[in-house]
Parts: sequence; C-alpha cells; structure tokens
Amino acid sequence: MSDDCIFCRIIAGDIPCSKVYEDDQVLAFNDINPKAPVHVLVVPKVHFDRLHESDETHAEMLGRILVGVGKVASKTEVTGPGYRVQFNQERGAGQEVFHLHAHVTGGGPIPK
Ligand code: AMP
Ligand code: ZN
Repeated sequence: MSDDCIFCRIIAGDIPCSKVYEDDQVLAFNDINPKAPVHVLVVPKVHFDRLHESDETHAEMLGRILVGVGKVASKTEVTGPGYRVQFNQERGAGQEVFHLHAHVTGGGPIPK
C-alpha cells in the first residue's frame, strides 16, 4: 500500500470505483476516462510499479492479472467482437499511474 498511489487508495476503499471484478489478488474497475465502450483496468492488490522491475518472485501476481483480464473479458462480453489488453510502461508510452495495470478495451472499434 502506497498512500500517494491512487490505485492503492481505490483498493483500500478510500476512493470509490466502479468495480467489474475482484478476487483475492486483483481488482478490476471501469476506467474513469474510457477510450472504448468497454474500458476496464485490472490491477494487482499489491503495489507494484513496472514490468521491467519484476522477477520470478512476481510470477504468480503477474499471472493472476491475466487471469483477471480473462474474467473481465467474459463478464463484459467482449470476447466475441474482440478486445485489446495493454500495459503502458513509462511516461513515453503514456503511463500516468505507476501501479501496474492492464487496460482491457473493447465493445466497439478499437484502432491499433
Ligand atoms: P496509464 O496511462 O496506462 O497509466 O493509465 C491510467 C488510467 O487510469 C487512465 O486511463 C485513467 O483514465 C485511469 N484513472 C485514473 N484515475 C482513475 C480513477 N480514480 N478511477 C478509474 N480510472 C482512473
Ligand atoms: Zn499502488
């Protein structure tokens, strides 16, 4: 938990979110500024910044993010038309929140 991390504060319940899915390791909620009809963020419940800071000890947590992505895709019914899974890493790639998260977008045209 990091007090100055907005996603940690959402996980702690200090800031509300529109929850889509939750299990013991991940929370998924609607992006506040959606870029597609379905735009859900899947975040690990432990604070973790960047993929390139991961090692083998993070394998379970990283895998569980993708399991959460699959659950979200099924629940939001984007699996038929198709959906995108995106991890922005560092500011040059558009990362704004430095708590690892997967963007799941779909439900309409999703240009590459
Ligand atoms: P990124 O640019 O990859 O770091 O993505 C951060 C995402 O978090 C952006 O798409 C924001 O719209 C989203 N976001 C920021 N604050 C909130 C919030 N309080 N609730 C939901 N989504 C948020
Ligand atoms: Zn955090």
